[in-house]
Amino acid sequence: MTALHSVDVVLDDTLLTLNRAVGVLRRRNVVVTQLAVRAGRMTFVLNTDAATADRVVQQIRKIVGVRTVDITSTPHEGAVMSSPQVRVFYDADADPTRLRGKTIAVIGYGSQGHAHALNLRDSGHRVIVGLREAGGSWQRAKAEGLDVRPVAAAARAADVIMMLVPDQEARAVYEASVAATLAAGKTLLFAHGFNVHFKEIVPPPSVDVAMIAPKSPGHLVRSEYEARRGVPGLVAVHQDASGQALANALAYAAGIGCTRAGVLETTFREETETDLFGEQAVLCGGVTTLVQAGFETLTAAGYAPEIAYFECLHELKLIVDLMYRGGMKFMRYSISDTAEYGDYTRGPRIVNEQVKAEMQKLLEEIQSGAFAREWIAETRGGARRFAEFRRGAAEHPIEKVGAKLRAMMPWTEEGKAAAGTVGAQHAAPLHSVPRAPNPKPMRA
Ligand code: NAP
Ligand code: MG
Repeated sequence: MTALHSVDVVLDDTLLTLNRAVGVLRRRNVVVTQLAVRAGRMTFVLNTDAATADRVVQQIRKIVGVRTVDITSTPHEGAVMSSPQVRVFYDADADPTRLRGKTIAVIGYGSQGHAHALNLRDSGHRVIVGLREAGGSWQRAKAEGLDVRPVAAAARAADVIMMLVPDQEARAVYEASVAATLAAGKTLLFAHGFNVHFKEIVPPPSVDVAMIAPKSPGHLVRSEYEARRGVPGLVAVHQDASGQALANALAYAAGIGCTRAGVLETTFREETETDLFGEQAVLCGGVTTLVQAGFETLTAAGYAPEIAYFECLHELKLIVDLMYRGGMKFMRYSISDTAEYGDYTRGPRIVNEQVKAEMQKLLEEIQSGAFAREWIAETRGGARRFAEFRRGAAEHPIEKVGAKLRAMMPWTEEGKAAAGTVGAQHAAPLHSVPRAPNPKPMRA
């Protein structure tokens, strides 16, 4: 059982002592929820089990320069994050033995599916992968030595069924091969709330329905697990027929490694709506349109498309990496003061009140189900507009110039492809995009 352990360390004033004490926390890889350092004193709060907290305290006591170490512990069930209604669950909150003797069917063996199936197997659980025999995944899963069966056979044999096919396929797969196998006592799991929240899939009331959604792509779910860590995840319960749905879902989360990092409690509605909003307004729709608009503005003004590409797309990664590591403040600390001043004074003119009003409208379309209805109708109608969007996007000049520039960088897709042919990256002339004349000579 995890608890919050407040630790108060009185130490001499040297940085060396402080550094050693912090080093203990870092090496132990414990969850530190608060940390404060004042002259001669360091206090922190650990979110871990009693034995781990005790080991940390013992190690800090041994450091030369540390005078006293006091610890106060408060037991809890799931820690509380910044907002009091959000609980977070760790290994000690999960009971993996709940899955002992149970069979888990992982339906789909793509990004998430392969990671879930392999992690669960390596955690000692009985796993069957459910797939279509004609598909490419069948052989891949077989090659890992997994028990692979057609979806219906896997679902029938399982107590816990995790749906990991693409969201737009899930309803058809569920109706054709899963629904008829459901019975009281079974658990149906999802990694995204879309189909349940928008009632595309309506499971019978006798089964538990829950979500374990790793907050990362599948290859990281796997590689972090192999490194004895895990990625954070979300847990939600839609239907609790057994009264044990949360506990069982957490046992599954432990099996794929998520409780090592922490699993936050949410609802199907919150996960679905925020996920759609994030990808539309910020992560995918917002970012691609912003990058493209910046590129178009520069090239229309006569600047070289190659330079515009570097400024508006290539460098985005450097900025995002910094934000990912340490938030906005860390990013702003690393950029120049000129860039930081431009950020504060110009950013709000780009993402202005009008843009925020539009974001609000997107959110309302998501909440009302209008977006979901539109997307479902599109996929059912053969996704012709969708294909048209894809073709149009691929034709944009930023994609053409980008492909040529990336061939100069061996770590990119085009760079890897070019690596085999000596000088291939120089084979295509760079200026294939028609350019307006430079407005005036420029200086760097
Ligand atoms: P994905 O990689 O696109 O899934 C592809 C897998 O589904 C393949 O193994 C494919 O097999 C199988 N499949 C497709 N249609 C099928 C059918 N009709 N019958 C049987 N198997 C079929 O999907 P994903 O990205 O892992 O997403 C799975 C779920 O996880 C979704 O709910 C998604 O929202 C959620 N999620 C994804 C991520 C992520 O980073 N990708 C993160 C969090 C949550 P074949 O080889 O036969 O085509
Ligand atoms: Mg998402």
